[in-house]
Amino acid sequence: MYNVKSYSEIIRLRELEVIDSDVVVVGSGLAGLRAAIEAARTGGERLKVSVVTKTQPMRSHSVSAEGGTAAVLYPEEGDSFASHEWDTVKGSDFLADQDAVELFVREAPKEIIQLEHWGMPWARREDGRIAQRFFGGQSYPRACFAEDRVGFFEMSTLYSTCLKHDNITFYDEWFAFSVVKDNGHFAGFIALDIKRGDVALFRAKAGIIATGGAGRLYPFASFGHSSTPDGIVMAYRAGVPLKDMEFVQFHPTGLVPSGILITEASRGEGGVLRNSKGERFMERYAPKMKDLAPRDIVSRSILTEIKEGRGFRDEESGYEYVNLDLTVIDHEKLIKRLTSIREICLKLRGIDPLSEPVPIRPVAHYYMGGIDVDINGATALPGLWAAGEAACVTMNGANRLGSNSTTECLVWGKITGREAAKYALAHSEPDPPAESIVAEERRLFDILMGPAPSVDPYQVKSDLQNIMEQHFHAFRNEQSMEEGLRKLRRLKSEFRLGVVDKSRTYNTNLVNVLEVESMLEASEVIAAAALKRTESRGAHFRTDYPRRDDDAWLKHILVRRTADGFEFDYKPVIITKYMPAERVY
Ligand SMILES: Cc1cc2nc3c(=O)[nH]c(=O)nc-3n(C[C@H](O)[C@H](O)[C@H](O)COP(=O)(O)OP(=O)(O)OC[C@H]3O[C@@H](n4cnc5c(N)ncnc54)[C@H](O)[C@@H]3O)c2cc1C
Repeated sequence: MYNVKSYSEIIRLRELEVIDSDVVVVGSGLAGLRAAIEAARTGGERLKVSVVTKTQPMRSHSVSAEGGTAAVLYPEEGDSFASHEWDTVKGSDFLADQDAVELFVREAPKEIIQLEHWGMPWARREDGRIAQRFFGGQSYPRACFAEDRVGFFEMSTLYSTCLKHDNITFYDEWFAFSVVKDNGHFAGFIALDIKRGDVALFRAKAGIIATGGAGRLYPFASFGHSSTPDGIVMAYRAGVPLKDMEFVQFHPTGLVPSGILITEASRGEGGVLRNSKGERFMERYAPKMKDLAPRDIVSRSILTEIKEGRGFRDEESGYEYVNLDLTVIDHEKLIKRLTSIREICLKLRGIDPLSEPVPIRPVAHYYMGGIDVDINGATALPGLWAAGEAACVTMNGANRLGSNSTTECLVWGKITGREAAKYALAHSEPDPPAESIVAEERRLFDILMGPAPSVDPYQVKSDLQNIMEQHFHAFRNEQSMEEGLRKLRRLKSEFRLGVVDKSRTYNTNLVNVLEVESMLEASEVIAAAALKRTESRGAHFRTDYPRRDDDAWLKHILVRRTADGFEFDYKPVIITKYMPAERVY
């Protein structure tokens, strides 16, 4: 193991490595892999694609997607593009940009077939065609699936397809932390090789950020621990605004006490929610769709049941919960179609859902907001695109429908891959100024060589998560959010970048500190945007403004970083056919 002592030693030992390619993708989840394939196919032999990822690709959060991928496959049997569009727009509480939704719906079936051609083992119906199941907020069962491991199979399919392309190179366990510019254009990313502790410039003509959602900003979360907002914040620092950040999705069914997701498909297959009186309470909140109402509505209903005393209490964790009853599902079907869910319940909770209820509570699961991009996934910085959960395109508006996200990753993975490749073919090699790169490299080595931090970054992370849980959960109000924002700012001002572990190789302490820095930045943006939006819409419910206010707030909030903080900006919602209406389920 090598210990850093001085700058001169670093400089003597090595110079900054430059890794050249035409298109560089950061992130190897569904969006990143799909983008890499499309860039490689568009450019052919003339184009080199690099994929930089802080985990091994198959450890990306996408692997844990469970329930399904939405697309209209059988219009002749009753489903239609118009129905998928309407469900998505209504689910979004009318904040989705409808041109993006239309594009999404039309491209979705092509992606399902494309994946099939690359080897995806979709579940089948009796007649041999691809099977589909119900998800929340859907008028028709349109989630394609591979039992309850859809993400794993999609990722295996895409990863093996990537490996067949000689012009795609993977850089696993590299942590990207900065966007480099050349004359107002994208010129590359700076990344740390976690394995060796070296820093390199990934110079490229075009870049795609596909780093996933803001992740574990809450203590009870369904995300993997590597899901943090570094990619989103990297774009924000480079001057690209963030959009719709106030909208955080709480999925109704996180297993108590771990937060591991129990897929919505378990209700799609017939499971029902029950309170401590055994009542199927969703009948009262959403008489028509009941347990399959959209996530924002089901989560708030669960929390209301708990608040009104009809929940249970988990003695060990202190969490209050309600039950998900899967015993009503045909046993053979449960064993076959919800194999992993049964295994999760048996292994992590010691209960068998065939005969016992599953304790659940709403869990932080998805971020509707992210890097502001146009309908082609392009950011305001020429040469830089964003796709997947890191991006806000926006087709999810104030509330995403289940099974639309994996599809979104595929659709905009493809679009951004193609657009970035075309851009790279038409532009020459960037020549970014050395100073900004050296400054960023120095920033990293300062952290490494500077004093150990006076505040424990792991404690900061845990405090941050508790503040978000207490002040920016599914129910919000001004007084509590003001207090939460004050606490976040105090935490941020006390935080010092520094590490206890001074080693170069596999310094996860260094990586974690950079992640916490980005978590502080992203939380502040979420908090400020949530305070700004004085209405209730989708996942953002304010008890002090309980109604949707289309006159004032049928618009997106953008947050742009400035020298002394940030400023707000707004974008109108694009409406093509569906006028806002009351959202009844
Ligand atoms: C438990 C769970 C179940 C889900 N089930 C479904 C479902 O059934 N259907 C559905 O539609 N959606 C589902 N979702 C949502 C969906 O899976 C995600 O929104 C989607 O997979 C995100 O994919 P992504 O490609 O944007 O990013 P991710 O899969 O999150 O990947 C992010 C990538 O970025 C890399 N990265 C991050 N930061 C850096 C950095 N600084 N430097 C380098 N690399 C970096 C990571 O290594 C990783 O490769 C589920 C989500 C969860 C958490």
